[in-house]
Amino acid sequence: MIRRTGRRAYIFDFGGTLAWERDAGGLQAARADLVRRACADLADPATVEAGWRAALSDMAAAERVGTPVSAGWAAQRVVGTLEPSAVDALAPTLGAALVDPPGHPQSLELVPGVAEILARLRARHVPCAILSNTGLSSGAHNRAWLDAVGVAGAFVPDAMLFSDELGVGKPAPVAFEACLDRLGREAADVVHIGDSRWFDVAGAQRCGLRTILCTPVLARGGEVVGARYHRVRHVLDRG
Ligand SMILES: [Mg+2]
Repeated sequence: MIRRTGRRAYIFDFGGTLAWERDAGGLQAARADLVRRACADLADPATVEAGWRAALSDMAAAERVGTPVSAGWAAQRVVGTLEPSAVDALAPTLGAALVDPPGHPQSLELVPGVAEILARLRARHVPCAILSNTGLSSGAHNRAWLDAVGVAGAFVPDAMLFSDELGVGKPAPVAFEACLDRLGREAADVVHIGDSRWFDVAGAQRCGLRTILCTPVLARGGEVVGARYHRVRHVLDRG
């Protein structure tokens, strides 16, 4: 049931807003190596390489329009380019391994400032949700990680929504509507915080939510060292 309470609630994006990958290049290299080894007996290296590149390209294209993708989805595209014999069992196994390549250290980390903001929102009993498009990491993986780093309690338990489970991604209005429904709030009472002008800001505003663009802060050399959460703090300080 949707309630108009006048009390503000927040919907956070996940990637680039709450969390980012510390070693994105290393993670992609580990995934590529995993694909090469897993498919080594199925096709020649050039075919496997081409399949993986096609999967990454398809995934980037899908993410640009908000199509839900997952590790299994990517693995199916790699396997789909190979000889059909003996690959039936490979895609699910490969898909699971692509989320967290064995032997590669956990690379997700909280964006600096996020833990403090979530703690303040939790202390004020402000309802918070997550609505995020997934890439290779699944919603289940991301929720377990939020729990492991101690911030899952800041969110309404059944309002952490990821596109691989929802079956639709941002900027589709139905994705925002599903999240509002889980929060039990009307759009006018909710602020969406995200790092994408297209998925987050444009998508949420089209549904009547207010928005905060949370852009990364880059150090010299392009390394991400923080995010512009000052507008979030300003909103919190105003009460
Ligand atoms: Mg994002």
